[in-house]
Amino acid sequence: MNLLERITAVSANINRCCQLSGRDPESVQLMLVTKTVSIETIIEAHQLGNHLFGENKVQEVVQKWIAPPEVSLVKPEFIGHLQTNKVKTCLDVCSRIQSVDRLSLVEALDRELQKRGEQREIFLQVNSSDEASKFGLSVEETLPFAQTIQRYQTLKVTGLMTLALFSQDENKVRPCFKKLKQLFTQVQDTGLFGEDFQHLSMGMSSDYQIAITEGATLVRVGTAIFGARTTPDSHYWPDI
Ligand SMILES: *Cc1c(COP(=O)(O)O)cnc(C)c1O
Repeated sequence: MNLLERITAVSANINRCCQLSGRDPESVQLMLVTKTVSIETIIEAHQLGNHLFGENKVQEVVQKWIAPPEVSLVKPEFIGHLQTNKVKTCLDVCSRIQSVDRLSLVEALDRELQKRGEQREIFLQVNSSDEASKFGLSVEETLPFAQTIQRYQTLKVTGLMTLALFSQDENKVRPCFKKLKQLFTQVQDTGLFGEDFQHLSMGMSSDYQIAITEGATLVRVGTAIFGARTTPDSHYWPDI
């Protein structure tokens, strides 16, 4: 299958899952996760009408995301672990940041955004699988954290993001998504972030169909569209 056929196949799966769970297919966005994918392929995907891209490493965006001037390429969203010393660069080269998971990072983002007189949209990353190997706020600390950071006017919190347990066993994966959806509703009910708090970013190549039936509004798909990566995932996720 070529790129268009793979994107079409994933989109068809998304539509089918929406229909099965009585959801409007328009309510789920497909993000193309382009770590290790060449800029040529990204441009091809962009020309096919895709505008939502996710990258996991700031350095990779800096080195790779250089489009020829005739192509107005959108900036990728950031979905990886963000070190505070990379905050400035990340704000320069990425758009929305989906992986905000600690106060020191909030403070660093706020400081830099204040300097620039800017506001930036972010999601909070939650560790819904309770694995030590995953970044993210624990489910228990997310609500108090949301209350704490509400006062940072430079940050516009519009959603939650998670990585589920890496497992072939659907019975272990699904509860992670259920938990995040529940938490999402709780945060929504507090009204802390207003009506713009509406994104639930969950589901990857192996589990996006489960995530959609559990309420995902944004799925992040790499491998199922671009093929297997040669770089091991341990490069992108911490070791246990
Ligand atoms: C790589 C990555 C994905 C996509 O993973 P695939 O299994 O290739 O679909 C999703 N989310 C995050 C945070 C990632 O780093």
